[in-house]
Amino acid sequence: MAADHILVLNTGSSSIKFSLFGSGATELLLKGRIENLFSGPTRFLVQDAAQRPVHEQSWPEALDHAAGMTALLAFLDARSSGEGLRAVGHRIVHGGSLYSGPVQLNESVLAELETLIPLAPLHLPHNLAAVRAAMRMAPGVMQVACFDTAFHRSQPALAQAFALPPDITDRGIRRYGFHGLSYEYIASSLPEADTALAGAKVVAAHLGNGASMCAMDAGRSVASSMGFTAVDGLPMGTRCGAVDPGVVLYLLVQLGMDVAAVQDLLYLRSGLLGVSGISADMRELEASDSPRARLAIDLMVYRIGRELGSMAAALGGLDALVFSGGIGENSVALRAAVCRDARWLGVELDQGANADPGKGVARISTPASKVSVWVVPANEELMIARHTLDILG
Ligand code: ADP
Repeated sequence: MAADHILVLNTGSSSIKFSLFGSGATELLLKGRIENLFSGPTRFLVQDAAQRPVHEQSWPEALDHAAGMTALLAFLDARSSGEGLRAVGHRIVHGGSLYSGPVQLNESVLAELETLIPLAPLHLPHNLAAVRAAMRMAPGVMQVACFDTAFHRSQPALAQAFALPPDITDRGIRRYGFHGLSYEYIASSLPEADTALAGAKVVAAHLGNGASMCAMDAGRSVASSMGFTAVDGLPMGTRCGAVDPGVVLYLLVQLGMDVAAVQDLLYLRSGLLGVSGISADMRELEASDSPRARLAIDLMVYRIGRELGSMAAALGGLDALVFSGGIGENSVALRAAVCRDARWLGVELDQGANADPGKGVARISTPASKVSVWVVPANEELMIARHTLDILG
C-alpha cells in the first residue's frame, strides 16, 4: 500500500466490501470483503485484479465493524511499505437533500449525516460506523463520502415530489432515488463506447439483489424507480418494489401485523424470493421448472417493461437502454424478454450479441435498432475512487 492508494469501502449491515485502487484511481489492485459481521464466523477474503485469491482469514466469533476495519487496515499495512493510504472513499446510502455530490468527511458532516439516519435506518448506521472506525484508525487520511442519492438531486422538482401536503414534504418525505453511483458510472461509460450517447435519452436498469431503473437525459438523472426508500419500484431479490400504500395499511389494520412484521415482509420475504417461494437468486429461478419461479421472473420482466414505458415518457423519447448489475450483466434470458416486450419502442436485440456480450461495455442491439441496447458492468467502486481523487484535488 503506497501513499497514493485509494481505499473504497462499501459497508452494509453484515459486511464490509472494499477495493484498493492505485494512483490516479484507475488501476484496481485488490478487491475483497469481510462477511458475517455480527453473526460469525466472520470471514475475510481478498482477490487481486485478476480475481485470484490472495488472502483468506476467518474468526470463529462474530466481529463488529470496528474489528473488521482493524483486520482490513492491518492486512493492507502488512502488504505495504507502511506509508499509508492517500484517502478512503465511502459509499454512503443517503445524503438526503443536503448533498448533491461527494464531500470530505469531518465531525460536522458526520453530525449532519447522523440526522439523516431516520431516512435510512437499515443502512446509514452501518455506513457511519465504518466511517468512524476508519477516521479513528487512520486519523491523518482524508475520508470522502459518496452518496447513492446524490446523482438524482438533478431531477426536476416534479420527479422528486409526492402528492402530499407541504408539511409532510418539509419533513423530508419525498423521492430521493438510489443506486446513483452505479448510474453515474454508466452515464460516464456510455459516451466512451459511443460518442453520440453523450446527449442521449437513456434508461438504465441496475438489476442486482437490489434493483432499480433510472432515466437519464444527457447524462443527468431525470427519474428513478426507487423513491423515498430502496424498497420502491421494481421487484427485487427479497424486496417487493412498488405496492399500493393501501396494502401496508391493510396489513397493519386488518391483518393485525405489527410494524416489524410488515418491514420484514416488504424487505426480506417478498420479490423473487417471496413470489417463487424458492430463492432470491435469479440463477436458481432460471434453473427451476417450478411455475412459481417462472411467475417471479415474469413479474420482474413485466414490471421492468412498465417502468421503461414510464421512463420513456419522462424523457420524451428513448435512444438507449442499458442493463447492469448481477442479473442485468448475466441473464441472457431476462435481457431477451425485456427487449422482446420493448419492441414497440424501437428495440431490436441482436440475439448473438446478447448471448455472448463479452467483457466490458457491449452493444447487444442490431445496427438497425432505433434504440441501442447495452450491457455495462456495474462499477460503483471506480466511481467512488474517481470522486475521492477529485476531492483530493
Ligand atoms: P448486489 O446487488 O448484492 O451487488 P449482484 O449485482 O451481484 O448483487 O446481483 C446478484 C444477482 O445476480 C442474483 O440474483 C444472481 O442470481 C444474479 N446473477 C448472477 N449471475 C447470474 C447469471 N449468470 N445468470 C442469471 N443471474 C445471475
